[in-house]
Amino acid sequence: MAVERKAALVTGSTSGIGLGIARKLAAEGLDVALNSFEADGSAAVAEVEEVAKGRVIYVSADLSQRQGLRLVDDVISAFGRLDVLVNNAGVQKVAPVEEFDANDWERVTAIALDGTFHTTSRAIPGMVERGWGRIINIASAHGLVASPFKSAYVSAKHGVLGLTKTVALEVAEKGVTVNAICPGYVLTPLVEAQLKDQAKVHGISEDQVKREIMLAPQPTKQFVTVEEVAALAWFLCDDMARSITGTSIAMDGGWTAR
Ligand code: NAD
Repeated sequence: MAVERKAALVTGSTSGIGLGIARKLAAEGLDVALNSFEADGSAAVAEVEEVAKGRVIYVSADLSQRQGLRLVDDVISAFGRLDVLVNNAGVQKVAPVEEFDANDWERVTAIALDGTFHTTSRAIPGMVERGWGRIINIASAHGLVASPFKSAYVSAKHGVLGLTKTVALEVAEKGVTVNAICPGYVLTPLVEAQLKDQAKVHGISEDQVKREIMLAPQPTKQFVTVEEVAALAWFLCDDMARSITGTSIAMDGGWTAR
């Protein structure tokens, strides 16, 4: 009898960490759905197809607009199932709290926290029915500790850890695990974009931001790589990881050990 191929959805997977995780899952033989808010995801699909052993599709959905429910429905319609959900989409905004734009606050928290709630709530029933599932939330070291000028992001990522623990308890007896990965700084487009904002807020050069702000709290003094995060996500999918649930795994070069 043919072994059934598992299916995964990685939100926010047209660049950076999400794209790296999607490539890893596809290379390991899962059917993979990519997502972002943009209409066209063909470039990302082509990148993942380079290594894929199964099907690769793209589903456009804006997670700031409560489209996570429809996103999961579309993926289940296409693949007939959803076994691995990686909640990765996220955006950053850097400003002092008294100047933090309310629309920016809502966008940052809607994508990272509300979006994770919507996709998770829709994905759980099928996983529970089949007795196997993996939900992996890409939180951040900022889900464990704070930094100034990132009130919305830090609040949302701390919230994601609360959601991770709660859902893990709810499905603990059903073969479904729910975990968060908390990376330190990974040099992706999201971080490149912050270089400019951080330089402005702190009144220093972009190079100084890299050395004096981003890598300062990371004792290894190295950026985490996308491939490292993807490898950890893949391990969490393994049956040998079935007892890891409701937890957050820091991958931050020692940042939160202090
Ligand atoms: P990135 O900017 O490279 O990628 C973000 C992805 O999310 C893109 O595909 C983008 O299209 C998508 N996205 C943005 N808004 C969306 C929306 N409204 N709906 C759907 N998709 C949307 O960022 P990244 O650095 O790869 O970050 C990915 C995740 O990892 C984020 O949740 C981020 O908070 C987290 N993270 C990043 C770092 C880091 O240093 N890069 C560290 C810790 C955690």
